[in-house]
Parts: sequence; structure tokens; C-alpha cells
Amino acid sequence: MYFYARKVVDTMASESMHGRGYINDGDKIAANYIKTEFKKFGLRSLGDDYYQLFSFPVNTFPGSVSVKLGEQELVTGKDYIFSPHSSSSNGKYSIVVADEKLVKKKKKFDKFLKQDFSNKIIVVNDTGKQTELLHNLIGNTLKAKAIVTLKDKLTLSMAQEVNDYPIIEILRTSYIKSKEISFDIENKFIPNYQSQNVIGYIQGSEQPDSFLVFSAHYDHLGQMGKEVYFPGANDNASGCAMLLNLAKYYSLPEHKPKCSIAFIAFCGEEVGLLGSKYYTEHPLFPLKNIKFLLNMDIMGTGEDGITAVNGSVFKKEFSALKQINSENYFIKDVKMRGKAANSDHYFFSENGVKAFFIYSMGGIKAYHDIYDRAETLPLNEFENLFKLITKFGEYLQN
Ligand SMILES: [Zn+2]
Repeated sequence: MYFYARKVVDTMASESMHGRGYINDGDKIAANYIKTEFKKFGLRSLGDDYYQLFSFPVNTFPGSVSVKLGEQELVTGKDYIFSPHSSSSNGKYSIVVADEKLVKKKKKFDKFLKQDFSNKIIVVNDTGKQTELLHNLIGNTLKAKAIVTLKDKLTLSMAQEVNDYPIIEILRTSYIKSKEISFDIENKFIPNYQSQNVIGYIQGSEQPDSFLVFSAHYDHLGQMGKEVYFPGANDNASGCAMLLNLAKYYSLPEHKPKCSIAFIAFCGEEVGLLGSKYYTEHPLFPLKNIKFLLNMDIMGTGEDGITAVNGSVFKKEFSALKQINSENYFIKDVKMRGKAANSDHYFFSENGVKAFFIYSMGGIKAYHDIYDRAETLPLNEFENLFKLITKFGEYLQN
């Protein structure tokens, strides 16, 4: 089981899937991989196909990207990223710096504001105090060519809208004081990108109309430029590995479930939970037939146990999960959390479906960056997590 999980993570986080985003058909390659595995295990489709198609707007960076501070070329992903709302722009401009010291001195700051910024770049250096005046500058009220923000960690996300200027996020430790900056960014805004949820199921032997649902998003952040991709090994190739392992397990005759089990691989999660939202608006069987949904997002570590979002909402199921774990010593801890709109369980529980989102804790901290790679993802508690989930699955079927 570990070896299959490892293979799934290695495959899905590899360069061939382009970060499972919306450049070079990354999402489609990943969806096809999951569909092929579903077929292999003999899962049935709920419609004509395993795919549920839908479209959404998304901003992407398939073209050239570069940033140079003075003479120093910065490395994409490592030293800097463009923020997801950025638009195409390029050139060489002089730098003006706005920091906490500057905004504190009213006279000096007023003078600063009076400059013509139309051929300048503002470097906003907020060291975590989240000064409002500095924050307003990030909104580019002064109409600079671009905004640079200094960050302690680079964390990429995705956007459905585009600003009319780029924001360059530079790692504080990679920032070198210089007079000039040159950069190049090409965005491609896609107003109607068609993507797909991948859905398969196994029919229950006793209650075929009643469903247990396992879900995991397979999309990630794609690429920044032609060369750099975001592997998304922990987020969420690891959850897909769990989903596929569960599909494999329940497809064996000796594990045939009493109720039906649906396996849903969502897309568009990183763009804003779009796949799961669409599914709850267009369910393939009545949502009220779902006994329980277990969403898995980030399953690659676990030395500190797991957290169950919605644990405090569905107390009965939470104490069952906790008890199963403590009786069997599977993982260190099962922590409870309240409601949160942080993964694909959200629109289900908002629509009256009992649902948890579980994620593993501890170990490597790579998240939404170029370091979330298969080679460094331990999967050290994966087998224990799998055992815990299948035992919990047994409980949920009864
Ligand atoms: Zn995720």
C-alpha cells in the first residue's frame, strides 16, 4: 500500500503534470491519470463518464517571468513569485522604499506621497506589523509600475481576477538593496477554463442508495513561467494517493461495502473550492443520501497526528474517530477543529451533509511553494492513517 501511495505521489507531483494547474493541460493530465486508476479498480461512473465538466475564470502565468535587482538575477519560486492577480508588464525602473519608519514620520511620508510614481516601483517593507498605510500602498493607490512586497515565506495562491499592475513578492533574505529593478511578467487570463471533477463509485451490497463519500482535490497551483512548476506533493497528491488506495481497497471482493462508496477527486480547489462548490450545486445523486463525507487534503506527514475540521460540529462521529484511534494506537493524536472554509468539505457541510476534512500534522513545512516535492515528503504515517480511515469507514457504514 505504501508503495502504491509513493507511486501516486511521485507521478502526480512530477514535472509531467505541470503542477496540476491550468497551464500545459496539467489538470487534464492529472484527471486522466485518476480516471485510469478508477477504471483499473473497476469503479463505476455515475454519469456517462467519470468526468463532471465545468468552467471558471483563472489567471495564469504561462509566458516569461524574470526579476533582476540591480545586476542580480533572482530565481523564480526560490527568491520571488508574482502574486496571483498580476498582469503583464516589463521594464527597468527605479526603486522607492516604503517601510514602517517612513510612514511613522508624517512630514516625510507626505513628501514621499507627492512624488510621481508612474515610472517607479514601490518596495513595501512591512515586517509583520501590518501597518495600514503600507498596506494601502500594496493596493497601488499611487499608480506605480509595480509593487514589490518583502515576505518571510513565499506562498503562492490562485486568482480569478486580474489587477492592472503586477505585484512581485520577494523573499526578505533574497532582497538586495539596489536603485533599480527590471522585471518581465506575462499573464494569461482565461475567462472560461474548462476543467473536471473525477468521480467513481462502488455499489453497496445492502444499501446501494446510501453513500459514503471520500474526496480529495487533485489540482494544485500549476506553473509560474515556462520553467518553474509547483509540485504539490503534500497538497494534495498525498490526499489523492489516499483516495486511490481507498478505491483499490474497497474494490476488492472481500472489502465490498454495505453502502455505496463514492470517490471524488475535485479540481479548482486552489482557485477557491470551485470543484466541490459546483458538485454541491450539481450533485450526481441526492446530497441527503450521503451518510458522511471524508475529505482528505494533506496526508503526507502525521508525526503530530491529524486534525479533523468540523470535529466540534459532528461530535458523535468525532468521538468515534478518536476512540478508534486510541484503541488501536494508529497515530499520535486526533485533534478537533470547528467549521472552516479551508477545503472541499465546506460546501457539503454548508448544505447539510455531515463531513470532516482531515489533514496530517507535523514534519515538513513546505506549503504552496516549490519545496512541496515528492522526494522530501515522508508519507511516514500513511499506513496508519489508511488503517484509521478504513476503520472509521467501517463505523460509518454501520
Ligand atoms: Zn490543498
